[in-house]
Amino acid sequence: MTSDNPAMLTTEFWEEIKNGKLVRPVCQDCDNSFFSPQTLCPQCQSDNWKFRESSGKGSIYSFTIVHRPPDNAYPTPYIIIDVELEEKWRMYSRLLECSPSEVHIGQPVEVSFQEFRGEMLPFFRVERD
Ligand SMILES: [Zn+2]
Repeated sequence: MTSDNPAMLTTEFWEEIKNGKLVRPVCQDCDNSFFSPQTLCPQCQSDNWKFRESSGKGSIYSFTIVHRPPDNAYPTPYIIIDVELEEKWRMYSRLLECSPSEVHIGQPVEVSFQEFRGEMLPFFRVERD
């Protein structure tokens, strides 16, 4: 996928979020999943990639607890996570419905689409069976 306008690289990602789907770029030449969307596959430099739907399930690769929010819309403390999705790609998001004392690396999580300031965003919550 190529584009003269870098902002257009994420258009499909945000459109699919509105449809309740989490997608990521998948290289059609080496099958690598990556994030964020960029002109070339970071593994083989091919521009031949497409968005594919993710299961939305993964585990916490790393996290940090934020005590000083950017503004009052964020109840503190809140948890920012680096999620590793099942398809072996990672993204940053916010972990909901989990206290800082319960979060841990390797914890299973799943995507949870929530509206924030009028936009649908892909947050995560602890996966419960
Ligand atoms: Zn590739």
